Amino acid sequence: STNRLRQASVRSRSKHLFNRAKAVFPDGTTRATVEKDPSPIYVQRGEGAYLIDVDGNQFLDLNNNFTTLIHGHGFAPVSQAVADLLRSGTCFANPTEHEIALAELLTARIPAMERVRFVNSGTEAVMFAIKAARAFTGRPAIARIEGAYHGAYDWAEAGQGVSPGKDGWTPMSVATPAYRGTPASVADEVHLLRFNDVEDIEARLRAVSDRIACVLIDPMPSRAGLMHPEPAFIEALSQTARKHGILIIADEVLNLRQAYAGASARYGLNPDLVTAGKIIGGGFPIGAIGGREEVMRVFGTEDAKPLLPQGGTFSANPVSMVAGRAAMEAMTPDAFDRLEAMGERLRAGLSASIARCGASFSVTGAASLFRIHPKRVAPVEYRDAYLSVEEAWLMRRMSRSFLEAGILLPYGAAACLSTPMVDSDIDLVLSAFDEFLAAEIQ
Ligand code: PLP
Repeated sequence: STNRLRQASVRSRSKHLFNRAKAVFPDGTTRATVEKDPSPIYVQRGEGAYLIDVDGNQFLDLNNNFTTLIHGHGFAPVSQAVADLLRSGTCFANPTEHEIALAELLTARIPAMERVRFVNSGTEAVMFAIKAARAFTGRPAIARIEGAYHGAYDWAEAGQGVSPGKDGWTPMSVATPAYRGTPASVADEVHLLRFNDVEDIEARLRAVSDRIACVLIDPMPSRAGLMHPEPAFIEALSQTARKHGILIIADEVLNLRQAYAGASARYGLNPDLVTAGKIIGGGFPIGAIGGREEVMRVFGTEDAKPLLPQGGTFSANPVSMVAGRAAMEAMTPDAFDRLEAMGERLRAGLSASIARCGASFSVTGAASLFRIHPKRVAPVEYRDAYLSVEEAWLMRRMSRSFLEAGILLPYGAAACLSTPMVDSDIDLVLSAFDEFLAAEIQ
């Protein structure tokens, strides 16, 4: 089509905007992980599964705002709900019925969410979940999975970007500060565990159990590799945590999108606290902390002052509440099933292409999520998925090759499907992957 020809050649308006942006943003944008060489693609608008950029190019969107847009762009029920709301005011210090409705929907679906509180981002949700676990247990330290991403709270960041040293991986157990200037005292209180490693989790938690308030775990950590949690690992984590009075926080900011009842329910994890975000805001800023009623009491009860006061100017703002409700109501069990079937078809197709040409790649993921790895064996934990400099370049080349085929594919993170996608969109992705493999292998 004409669009496909133009994609490769015309990026002039984006380049122009990037030049303007460089004068006002320190690195040219406020979006950390988009391709900036030669310029980011500036969006004009979104339509269902597609983005249209300022130069008129069209792209199948497998990023969906970092997995947020489960219905793609411009989903009519969300647009309608928000349009209706705008006439009556957008934020109040007082509560509204809208927040009750979204809370009812979430608590009815997600077993571990007996009670809930809304905030404005996944970062905030994780931060308050960690604080809640500390307040409940009276313990200062946390444990978390090496390499996983949980947002930008200092405690959640420590351990997210670890890399092998000159002599390979160290058997590290305490995190190092994630970034220059982060107090060492923060990282000292962050203990690292290895995903899917049963012995590691038991030994490490036992050694420091009286200091550990919680284990923070994403049931399928995307940046760490988007690997399935092994049942034995979930079992060992649950037993060890219970034995030592350590709470489990399931960070489902991303993986709630896997199933009607969420990822913990899907993988047999019974967390004390759950964080959510992304899809539950229907494309508007949101985060949620949920959990067992007994633990959520730290935020206060009808007759007791909170151990942990929690607020936020835009928390439970009605725009995010009505948008989230409209998006989530459309995510019926059938809608999840349909997305999952499309995801299965895509992952199977990608794996078949890899097998056909004997390429050194593998695919991980579940439901509507997938990630392609430049590794012959699919990773089971972060260290397997870790990309060398050469591999990171290869993944970036893959992403660029997809771009030329009219597809936005994030690299080093989860890619995802959305409900407006159809079989021909999956075919487009599969043929783009075949083209990439053919070009790499010859
Ligand atoms: N936790 C997980 C598992 C995430 O994937 C993310 C975002 O990608 C976050 C937390 C942070 O959410 P936000 O970007 O809304 O602050």
